Amino acid sequence: MSAEQPHLAVIGAGPAGLAAALAAAGRGVHVTLVDSADAVGGQFYRQPTAALRARRPKALHHQWRTWRRIGEALDRHLAAGHITHLPEHHAWCVEKHPDRRRDQRPDRQPNPQPPRRFTVHALLGPEQETPVAVPADAVLLATGGYENVLPFPGWTLPGVVTAGGAQAMLKGALVVPGRAAVVAGTGPLLLPVATGLAAAGVSVAALVESADPKAFVRRAGRLARRPDKLVEGAGFAAELLRRRVRTLVRHTVVEAHGVDRLEAVTVAAIDAQGRVRPGTERRIPCDTLAVGHGMLPHTDLAESLGCRIDGVHVYVDDEQRTDVPGVWAAGETTGIGGAALSLAEGHIAGRSATARLRGREPDSHAWAAAAKSRGALREFFAALSAVYAPPAHWAERVTDDTVVCRCEEVTAGSVREAVGELGAGDLRTVKLLTRAGMGWCQGRMCGAAVAGITGCREGAARRLLARPVPLGVLARAGDAEDPEDTPAG
Ligand SMILES: Cc1cc2nc3c(=O)[nH]c(=O)nc-3n(C[C@H](O)[C@H](O)[C@H](O)COP(=O)(O)OP(=O)(O)OC[C@H]3O[C@@H](n4cnc5c(N)ncnc54)[C@H](O)[C@@H]3O)c2cc1C
Repeated sequence: MSAEQPHLAVIGAGPAGLAAALAAAGRGVHVTLVDSADAVGGQFYRQPTAALRARRPKALHHQWRTWRRIGEALDRHLAAGHITHLPEHHAWCVEKHPDRRRDQRPDRQPNPQPPRRFTVHALLGPEQETPVAVPADAVLLATGGYENVLPFPGWTLPGVVTAGGAQAMLKGALVVPGRAAVVAGTGPLLLPVATGLAAAGVSVAALVESADPKAFVRRAGRLARRPDKLVEGAGFAAELLRRRVRTLVRHTVVEAHGVDRLEAVTVAAIDAQGRVRPGTERRIPCDTLAVGHGMLPHTDLAESLGCRIDGVHVYVDDEQRTDVPGVWAAGETTGIGGAALSLAEGHIAGRSATARLRGREPDSHAWAAAAKSRGALREFFAALSAVYAPPAHWAERVTDDTVVCRCEEVTAGSVREAVGELGAGDLRTVKLLTRAGMGWCQGRMCGAAVAGITGCREGAARRLLARPVPLGVLARAGDAEDPEDTPAG
């Protein structure tokens, strides 16, 4: 990389980050791809770990041809030195430097390279104790999303896993979480999870989906704008039929049962208001419950940079720029919408960043096809997220003794008491009174649940650090005065 060459740090090597990296690297920008995983691909293109030497890696994958195309282009850019991939680098903060010039630093020797505007701070490897600093002229956030799992009695039993977790075990480690599974919750992710588990030999006793099929019909017009997605969904449904997986719509898991681990779940039908219809409960024996209630965007790095957060996602303009100059965002961090939308947004972000890093006004006609696809997909997923909203009144079924915050072992009863008896009126006060959200995950897992149970509004979490950071690393963080002096500089 030459000193003059603009340098873009892309955080996240999923579909969005990869599309952005390829778009920028192909147009003369040096890209550093920072990702916490050991291989590129993100969630959608997750590959079996190399050590497993999978004989048919494509067996568990969708859109294999697109992935091959991306992988081959990436290999070419890596070999040519246009892209540097930093695997197992967990970004915990992006630092924005004041606009510094050499003539503003008379006390220092002239710097051989112009100062970069940002430093991405990351922790290396599984131990996450070794700090690394990546200097960059611009930053593109493509950190994806994470699963929302709402609590219910018994959800902390061993054997209860998230739907995406079950999928990640299958795709990444080629292992199944158990022998007899129920897949439950709401959202399109349940379909590939149920079919994937069944194809891998798990006996899938039921797919329990709380959404009402009538809700699809009501939005048929908007959903029909992406017939390819409807065909994809129909394909999963046909596969479930073929494998004789029972699908229970407008049903929910009421309770998971077991002593040391999961033995069965009780499911029940819900009415139009999302309340359990008495007398419809049935018990299904299983050793695995793969459960999920949709996804939430990762916004931590954007929040610490001061980017505007709209509801739960990062705000971006038509070019995928955040409102902080020099910071772009793409993919599920800007709203949940699947891999194809992430690819389109990443491509636009990469092209916009390339032009602006060269001081040029980008020509949006150049990405018209991606913009068209982005518009249609955003509309499709807005309709889909309305269909797959978690059932209203789910919180009423959470008993007082159910643990809500797993890190700090705080029960639903405690958070209700914080509001009902101690007068808490917002999530921050509930957290201070009960410790819910104060543990390792910093409320990522329990935030939506505590909000639902207490009735407090859920806003941006404002986490200063995106990852837990050792105190020693924090203490030394200011030592390297200039980002170019740091190890990766
Ligand atoms: C567990 C899980 C399983 C899924 N399985 C499927 C599936 O089977 N089929 C399907 O259609 N959709 C699936 N999805 C949805 C799918 O992930 C998205 O549609 C798509 O991958 C989004 O692309 P993205 O590039 O925005 O984010 P992602 O693919 O999520 O990529 C984000 C990348 O950012 C990295 N990252 C995040 N935070 C940091 C950080 N602080 N520092 C460094 N790196 C970071 C992650 O390691 C990841 O590689 C799944 C989602 C999840 C969470």
